[in-house]
Amino acid sequence: MPTNSSSPYLPFGENKNAAWYGKDIISVKQFSRADLEYVFGVAQQMRGMVERVGTFDLLKGKILANLFYEPSTRTSSSFTAAMERLGGSVIPINEVKYSSVTKGESLADTIRTLECYTDVIVLRHPETGSAAIAAKAAKKPIINAGDGVGEHPTQALLDTLTILEELGRLDDLNVTLLGDLKYGRTVHSLARLLSQFSNVKLNYVSPDILKMPQDVVEEVGAKGVSQTEYSALEEILPTTDVLYVTRVQKERFEDLSDYEAVKGAYVINPEIMKAAKEKMIVMHPLPRVNEISADFDDDPRAAYFRQMEYGLYARMALLAMVLGKA
Ligand code: ASP
Repeated sequence: MPTNSSSPYLPFGENKNAAWYGKDIISVKQFSRADLEYVFGVAQQMRGMVERVGTFDLLKGKILANLFYEPSTRTSSSFTAAMERLGGSVIPINEVKYSSVTKGESLADTIRTLECYTDVIVLRHPETGSAAIAAKAAKKPIINAGDGVGEHPTQALLDTLTILEELGRLDDLNVTLLGDLKYGRTVHSLARLLSQFSNVKLNYVSPDILKMPQDVVEEVGAKGVSQTEYSALEEILPTTDVLYVTRVQKERFEDLSDYEAVKGAYVINPEIMKAAKEKMIVMHPLPRVNEISADFDDDPRAAYFRQMEYGLYARMALLAMVLGKA
């Protein structure tokens, strides 16, 4: 498509040689710093287009399968909105209980079926590694929308975009990850992604049984990032630039009495936040249960609702990239 400043289209041609054309997005490990800067640039253009024209035809004629084996509100609806704002359409399969999965169909066969009808598949599945299995079965791009306790790469991309937009940088940051660091896939992806930037300090605050997994700590440590574990938030809150709060992932516990013992371990409220900097942000991938009290929502540092909106632009960018339109 030729560049035309009077047209509502982004100035991108369809480019089958583009670096991300036809690629799967399975893990944040696929993204170099230069890749991230590219995604952020495309996402910023998407935001400009949405603000100016709302919906445009960059992916007209393309179809997305949104295949969700686990509950989702934001990821599923933002991928739908992203595809539709780009002029494409969506086959939503949110309730696999109404699909042939309940007849015993394997993930690989379901994927092979959907790729006959669509151009790209977004997959959320309870098993770690499922997105990689799907990618192996598919010829069309698979985008991992959360594989069990493994990764949630598109969330980490929107999280880093949020930090960049809100604080103006991704280097020189003191980032505190709070809550369920064991089962929370968003923090596994985010810690890995932040290790691409310089002078990032990661602080892990969690109950003893919900610590950041050793494999993530080792990978991030190999990049030279300083990582420190704390049990009390008070120790690190005053110097924190980004406080990333997570939900205790009830559905991942084998023994619910363990969940009951830790579910209310940390609650962010206006009183606690008096000790934090004036210029910092509080993020949360959502849904929240009780880890951030609603009376903090009006604080300008509460970035979690703005964070959701960045998710639309990041996912528009990723869809355009894997379909050769960015
Ligand atoms: N929505 C996020 C996820 O799917 C976070 C959460 O569920 O707590 O991982």
